[in-house]
Amino acid sequence: MKEGNTGGLYEVEESMSAYALSPESPVRITFSVPQGIDVFSGFGIWYAVDTEEPSEVKIRQISGVKYPLTNKIFPEPNWSKLGSMWLGDTEDPAEITFEFTTAKPTNFYVYEALAGTVSEPELDVAPSALTKNMYMFAPEALFVVEQGSIQIDATEIDATKEITLKNCNRCGRYLPINTSNERQHLSFSNHCTALHKVPCQDSTFSKLKRPGEKSPSLILRNGFQLECRFCKKFYVNAALNPQRTVGQMREDGQRRRAFELLVNKAIGRSPVVQYREENQGRELSDDTWKRFDKKCFKCQKQLKLQDVNLDHTRPLALLWPLDATATALCKDCNTDKRDRVPAEFYTSKELEKLAQITGLSLDELKSPHPNVKILDLIWNRRDWVFGEFFEDSNFAKIRQGKDTRNLIVKALDKAAQRAPEGHRYDFSGAYAAFLKNKN
Ligand SMILES: [Zn+2]
Ligand SMILES: [Zn+2]
Ligand SMILES: [Zn+2]
Repeated sequence: MKEGNTGGLYEVEESMSAYALSPESPVRITFSVPQGIDVFSGFGIWYAVDTEEPSEVKIRQISGVKYPLTNKIFPEPNWSKLGSMWLGDTEDPAEITFEFTTAKPTNFYVYEALAGTVSEPELDVAPSALTKNMYMFAPEALFVVEQGSIQIDATEIDATKEITLKNCNRCGRYLPINTSNERQHLSFSNHCTALHKVPCQDSTFSKLKRPGEKSPSLILRNGFQLECRFCKKFYVNAALNPQRTVGQMREDGQRRRAFELLVNKAIGRSPVVQYREENQGRELSDDTWKRFDKKCFKCQKQLKLQDVNLDHTRPLALLWPLDATATALCKDCNTDKRDRVPAEFYTSKELEKLAQITGLSLDELKSPHPNVKILDLIWNRRDWVFGEFFEDSNFAKIRQGKDTRNLIVKALDKAAQRAPEGHRYDFSGAYAAFLKNKN
């Protein structure tokens, strides 16, 4: 994919490969996808079939876990997409096979196929309420970090098909669009859809140039947004908190995710998964939202489910996992609260109400102490933390090159300093000794 940065550029490329698809010879595609606990993974493909009747082509998943799918098949000359994306709850790779069959012979073209773990700065720090339906953003949100593999079982043929790519004003990637019927959109949402607005009168969205060209050579009817669907959601629509820089949020996010992973590993599993298993498949986010009357507990603003920020109530920085005691907050209140214990953020009246809703006692809500059980557990297993956990591939994915290890050790010290006597462990000292021993 090429770089660029106006949102008004396009290029035409050719398919990467082509296969025969006939009643006798199906096309089978297997995606092998690496996974990690609380790490996004996904797969996807942009493909095309040479038929005006896409209903003749049947797509069936014949093996692997059935994740919710983006599955859009469009008639020729348009391109189609298939894919998914999810938050992992295992470190075992997923292997998923699809079979394409047809009633009449046609060509099957592939532009690009992707599989792997996914990491992206805004995605990594986004509240879970914002990342619930990531499958809808495959393949365009597949910012692959650890590559998986894609196996296509079919007869390759010597044929090519053109595909139009448009650049994104934010990420700069060139991604597929359909120009013969723009409503069959792929990586960018339309600009104008209402009948009385078409054709789109705004040249920013409806006239595209090739790189280096002086005047537009592709005139669109509906037009496309300047940002790809991923950037539109995570960079344009998601209100950014003006008080914190992107760098600060990223560092917070990395530390939070690493801490969350550490706490989850210490207790053996993801509390969100545990909640689902203990509550007949119900989701923690749904239940918390309803328990708090579909409002932000702090400012009482009405919240849609997708806008709920699940707050740990007792902070993750003090090693409290996200569980059934979570509080529903709006994004702003959640950002305000950050690592504070409830007594530092809520009024005494609010604390009483919070005790009623969450089932935590007033003493628990007022306690400045960390989760001593988990603190002890982590201290007793510190060699595992410094050795295995810090070397773990999931953790490495969160690190993204920065040294989150020191950040984590410092954060553990901070939590320990707030513990009762007898639990104020010196993680920094222990880590230094560990590193010295290793060399
Ligand atoms: Zn983008
Ligand atoms: Zn428009
Ligand atoms: Zn609020």
